[in-house]
Amino acid sequence: MNLLKKLVVLSSLFSVAFPYQAFAYKVVVDAGHGGYDSGAIGVNGLQEKDVNLDIATKLKDELVRRGYDVFMTRTDDRFWSLAERVQMTNEQKADFFVSIHANSTSSSKMNGSMVLYYDNAYPQEDYPASDTMKIMTPYSKDLAQHVQDSLVAAAGTADLGLVPSAVYVARMGTIPSILVETAFLSNSSEAAKLADDAVRTNMALGIERGIEAFVPPVFVDTVGHWAREAILRMKNKGWIEGIGNRYEPERALTRAEFLTLMDRVFTFSKLNPANSSSAASSVTGSVYGSTGNGSYKDLPANHWAIKVFNDAKGLNLLQGYEDGTIRPNQPVTRGEVAVIFDRLLRLKQAQAEAALAVKNASFSDVPATLWSANAIYALKSQDIINGITDTEFKPGQSITRAEIAAMVDRYAAK
Ligand SMILES: [Zn+2]
Repeated sequence: MNLLKKLVVLSSLFSVAFPYQAFAYKVVVDAGHGGYDSGAIGVNGLQEKDVNLDIATKLKDELVRRGYDVFMTRTDDRFWSLAERVQMTNEQKADFFVSIHANSTSSSKMNGSMVLYYDNAYPQEDYPASDTMKIMTPYSKDLAQHVQDSLVAAAGTADLGLVPSAVYVARMGTIPSILVETAFLSNSSEAAKLADDAVRTNMALGIERGIEAFVPPVFVDTVGHWAREAILRMKNKGWIEGIGNRYEPERALTRAEFLTLMDRVFTFSKLNPANSSSAASSVTGSVYGSTGNGSYKDLPANHWAIKVFNDAKGLNLLQGYEDGTIRPNQPVTRGEVAVIFDRLLRLKQAQAEAALAVKNASFSDVPATLWSANAIYALKSQDIINGITDTEFKPGQSITRAEIAAMVDRYAAK
């Protein structure tokens, strides 16, 4: 069963705990060492770089089979510096990072598996972590624990546990990151295991299962961001979407994205521009920007945002540019956002007043259809204006100087 199918099945069972997601997680698999850097040399002559690449490749194949999107920092015997590996990882915009290594030490007896990760509770002064990796600590640790547990179970190695570490690839990135030490090349029994293709396959399977048990943070690029809580609340309301598992919080918002968001919040189709008596100006691309017919040169009929642009035009929220364009992909400015947001609030307010008028239409001579009905009932609900009697308002009658004094006085007393 691939990952997406599995998530659908899970979501039907645990829809709250495990919501359906329509994208594949992206993993960077890093085979440690390579090229002139052989890594550790086994007591049997095995080179760590070769063991790492083989297990990493097997891991990649298994992850792809399970529906993950995988990027490998190397697929052959070549050298990349640690900084280059982290840079490659950042460019991939992945969800998490897994580096594969084999261990070595001066004691030939030492054996077992361990997983390294950066832990902000154990900072190392001479090896400061990136700000993001400090915040990623709980996620890296969670990933490390899942991988350690299933690697030990699959490979039958001794459980040496998690190791808070300042190794470069674990502390300098921007996503949950771990470094797996599969077994010891300095131990003759484990060096023999690492030379065995079946053992390497089991190790890769174990690591893969640990990865599958790990749920990366939602919108991984907002972890630690000042707006993260607001972004997650908007996501939970279904008002904003990510690009895969990323929100790209610092990217400029386009006009099409902004209108789509406003439509989700205010439901343009339920707003009636006739309800607004306020003379709010619309956002124009230029002073005389309207093309008049609702079609724009750069907004083809099959554009994903065509409906929202047409609805926005109907509400007089914005108009096109003089050259006949509407520029859906142009960044929207903070000023434009303020004007459109305010206009929508006024429309919503006017709509609420109109609904109130219909509900409270108690004057027999002020039906809800009367041009002044909304205003009369809005003022009455605020006790600013009264009827002549309980059932009569006489909207066409001249107001006296006494009546206006009493009315303004009621407003001023508020
Ligand atoms: Zn190594």
